Amino acid sequence: MIKREESISKLDNIHLINEIKMLKSVLWINPNRKSTPNQEQFSLRHMEEANDRLNRFSSYIKVAFPETEKNDGIIESTIKEIPEMKKLIEGRRGFKIPGKLILKCDHSLPISGSIKARGGIYEVLKFAEAIAIEHGLLSLNDNYAKLADENFKKLFSEYKIAVGSTGNLGLSIGIISAKLGFQVTVHMSHDAKEWKKQLLRNKGVTVIEYASDYSKAVEEGRKQAQQDPKCHFVDDENSVDLFAGYSVAALRLEKQLQDQNIKVDANHPLFVYLPCGVGGAPGGIAFGLKLIFGENVHIFFAEPLQSPCMLLGMMTGLHDEVSITDIGLNNQTEADGLAVGRASKFVGKLMESVLSGCFTVDDSFLFRSLKGMYEQENIFMEPSAHAGVFGPILLISEGKHYLEDNGLSSKMENATHLVWSTGGDMVPFEERKIYLEKNV
Ligand SMILES: *Cc1c(COP(=O)(O)O)cnc(C)c1O
Repeated sequence: MIKREESISKLDNIHLINEIKMLKSVLWINPNRKSTPNQEQFSLRHMEEANDRLNRFSSYIKVAFPETEKNDGIIESTIKEIPEMKKLIEGRRGFKIPGKLILKCDHSLPISGSIKARGGIYEVLKFAEAIAIEHGLLSLNDNYAKLADENFKKLFSEYKIAVGSTGNLGLSIGIISAKLGFQVTVHMSHDAKEWKKQLLRNKGVTVIEYASDYSKAVEEGRKQAQQDPKCHFVDDENSVDLFAGYSVAALRLEKQLQDQNIKVDANHPLFVYLPCGVGGAPGGIAFGLKLIFGENVHIFFAEPLQSPCMLLGMMTGLHDEVSITDIGLNNQTEADGLAVGRASKFVGKLMESVLSGCFTVDDSFLFRSLKGMYEQENIFMEPSAHAGVFGPILLISEGKHYLEDNGLSSKMENATHLVWSTGGDMVPFEERKIYLEKNV
């Protein structure tokens, strides 16, 4: 602890740390960004391997989740311009956001209605594939639709899957694991919403509740799983499989941008704003985007004022060796998907060459944005999913240096601001009403 405190106080970043402690919204620019990502630990090959695996599984997904039929069993969301929301923001702020504002609609990803339907489902599919191949029931060239048959369910029922979660990862892992036939346990932190626990229990998932936060739920889950050789633990703090599953989004986005004639090149910068919890989901996507778009993509992570674990880890270079409690923050936020006090062990390190920066956002902004998005665009997104909406506002008002230093100031009329929405479709009607009526 002493060592940590020293590293924190030794920094040139003292001023910024003070602002974070005072719960001001800050924008931190990463001085170590490169034009291409460092590929020692994770590379294009890993992303393509994950993409191939998801393609193999598409015939199974189509049968198991008929709502994915129209997209041929590929779990993907659309991108959509949100001009009315843009007008609302500009009116409220009193300045223009140059360029286009588009939304990546992961709040409506099929199966589990959040960004976790990417990495979470991918990791379980990979585990299932390995077991089925090992038992001689499956080979890579088969039609994977047969995984829905009873003999596979019987096989998988001998295995267990466990995960620790603030909610959405639990939903994703719970739903896909139960569908395949695994015995599944979700360890939920205290901030997980009641309806998420209920929904999982209704699907036959074992839900264990903790009075403490996310890190504790993960730790307990990991401990219990380690004692059982037939149990696979989906480790949100350390999993490369989760990261790989998320990264595939970048390949899909590249195609979607092309289809809509949205250019990304030296004269058409792409800005991407991703809500960040432990870092796996935004990290995997960011890495994939950086592999594809190089220096023409500018990626920012968004965190709540009380939970800036990635920002703190990156600015100090301490990554998972520092917690937001070390600087006196308490991790209390209505953005339950982002209520994480300590960042992933490996994601922060991987983000050093990738990220343009991190910023923090007030909970009250999330609710104003939630209401605005619903009224202007008829889109419902959960509070966590709105963190990225603050990105273009902060970039234009506070990020002039970044734009100048990167020769972007004169190109902003050609810019695309892509706000990554991360969850919302599964939120029950009654809960939506409470969010929408919240006084902020
Ligand atoms: C999990 C989650 C995130 C962030 O993902 P991490 O992998 O935890 O960084 C963002 N938004 C929502 C709605 C989430 O559920």
